[in-house]
Amino acid sequence: MQKQLLIAGGGIGGLAGALAAARAGWQVRLYERAAAFSEVGAGVQLGPNVVRILHDWGLAQALQAVAALPQRIQVRCALSGRELAVLPLGATMQQRYGAPYVTIHRADLHGLLLGAARAHSGVDLHLGQSLERFSDDGSAVTATVTGCGSAGKPIEGDALLGADGLWSRTRAQLLGDVPPRVSGHLAYRALVPREALADLPGLAGRDYVNQVTLWLGPRLHAVHYPVRRGELHNLVVLVEGPAPQDLESWDHAANAAGLVAALHGCCSALQHVVHGVAAAGCGWRLWPLCDRPPLRGPQEMARGLVALLGDAAHPMRPYLAQGAGMAIEDAAELERALAMDALEVPLRLRRYALNRWQRAARVQERAVRNGQIFHARGPVRWARDGALRWLGAQLLDQPWLYGGGVGALRGA
Ligand SMILES: Cc1cc2nc3c(=O)[nH]c(=O)nc-3n(C[C@H](O)[C@H](O)[C@H](O)COP(=O)(O)OP(=O)(O)OC[C@H]3O[C@@H](n4cnc5c(N)ncnc54)[C@H](O)[C@@H]3O)c2cc1C
Repeated sequence: MQKQLLIAGGGIGGLAGALAAARAGWQVRLYERAAAFSEVGAGVQLGPNVVRILHDWGLAQALQAVAALPQRIQVRCALSGRELAVLPLGATMQQRYGAPYVTIHRADLHGLLLGAARAHSGVDLHLGQSLERFSDDGSAVTATVTGCGSAGKPIEGDALLGADGLWSRTRAQLLGDVPPRVSGHLAYRALVPREALADLPGLAGRDYVNQVTLWLGPRLHAVHYPVRRGELHNLVVLVEGPAPQDLESWDHAANAAGLVAALHGCCSALQHVVHGVAAAGCGWRLWPLCDRPPLRGPQEMARGLVALLGDAAHPMRPYLAQGAGMAIEDAAELERALAMDALEVPLRLRRYALNRWQRAARVQERAVRNGQIFHARGPVRWARDGALRWLGAQLLDQPWLYGGGVGALRGA
């Protein structure tokens, strides 16, 4: 008989998990607590390790229709504006890692996965329903779902996937651990029409449209890149500072004055980019960043009939631009594990966790380290800039990351 998977959460991770499980021949019931599927507007970068998976899922054309294909990553000093290093993307990445490096609006990535999940007969999506508690008796999982006027309806499946994000209830019940840690870093994010950054002094008009630009400064960095076929530009400025009080609401209308103050001393080219947002009539939104220490073993990703995926399992700082990517890699591994019909379900989930935890932990760890390098001050900053000027692309390329993961390339 067809196995039934319950999923808590319909973000990028939950939808990727639903699609993957359906591809493995499971019947999926996904519960999303929000009344409508939506992703707050901002961009994500997807390395070739993630794009390879989307291509395998038959989404290459749909991805190409909405994403941007930046041709390089340019690293600049936020204080002097000087170029420090360049990593070619485009054909170089395609050739080296079998897929391009893309940048995409989160809503477009979410919409792409939603369309694919909806088109699959094995997926049922339930909106406005929150998955609250579960019990696992070894042969089935029973969970309580609330919402849409129901006071708590029991549902049953062969397994449960917690893809309910940073503040995951599934995780809290499964592992009984402490809340995520507050990083002390804040992300200001904005989306502007391409024209808003055209012809700004110090920003080569030809280039910025087609590249990821990364500015490194003491205790801060900024990144901007095109999304939605290049029609929009996504800007993120990450600074160190105290988080606002009500962390769980996560996304706050940002106080741009705080951002302007944080950029004091930065070069005029970067200041122009930031002022370009207000000049275009667009606003900033503020995310206090939280994460968890790296995973310590497979038992933190799956126990019995319950598994975790994406931010519920391994929330990370965005300094390697891989949080959504790791959720999609998790889903691809889950597809393989769930398809192993000869194994009992707990063994399939155990296998999923065994094959995922070390890579996810490495990415969590490297993301923290990258943040320290990006925000370096004093002599460490001098050494970093020297190394970047000297080694350039060699330092920026990440073969273990882009060539590894599910369906790793030979030798990666
Ligand atoms: C500033 C910033 C920049 C980033 N840049 C990148 C990048 O460039 N590349 C990249 O790959 N990643 C990036 N990320 C990370 C990425 O956004 C996240 O890792 C990813 O979106 C996590 O997806 P998720 O589905 O696991 O969790 P979420 O997106 O949090 O989704 C969880 C879903 O579960 C629902 N939910 C919660 N509780 C329940 C419940 N009890 N029952 C039912 N539903 C529930 C929520 O409503 C939500 O829809 C960035 C993050 C930040 C903050």
